[in-house]
Amino acid sequence: MAKGMVVIDEDRCKGCGLCVMVCPKQVLQLAESRFNAKGYRPVEGVNPEACTGCAMCAAICPDVVFTVYRQKRKPQRAAAVV
Ligand code: SF4
Ligand code: SF4
Repeated sequence: MAKGMVVIDEDRCKGCGLCVMVCPKQVLQLAESRFNAKGYRPVEGVNPEACTGCAMCAAICPDVVFTVYRQKRKPQRAAAVV
């Protein structure tokens, strides 16, 4: 499974919760008692090690909050044939 990481520009977030609903790994939640510069409860990462880098959060977010990084797989070597 690919390993991913998201960077959250939380002051762009309007707290709509779409990304929380689509994340298949429950990496995201809305802050419970914090507010961003716009006065919304922003999204935050709660389970970052589970992120696969699938980028569904970035695809659905209307406010370009996420930058997604995904670790490349190492190339596989074929076994030597003797
Ligand atoms: S990249 Fe995928 S797994 Fe990672 S936070 Fe976004 S939706 Fe969840
Ligand atoms: S989809 Fe975007 S605007 Fe909506 S809660 Fe998630 S990060 Fe915030």
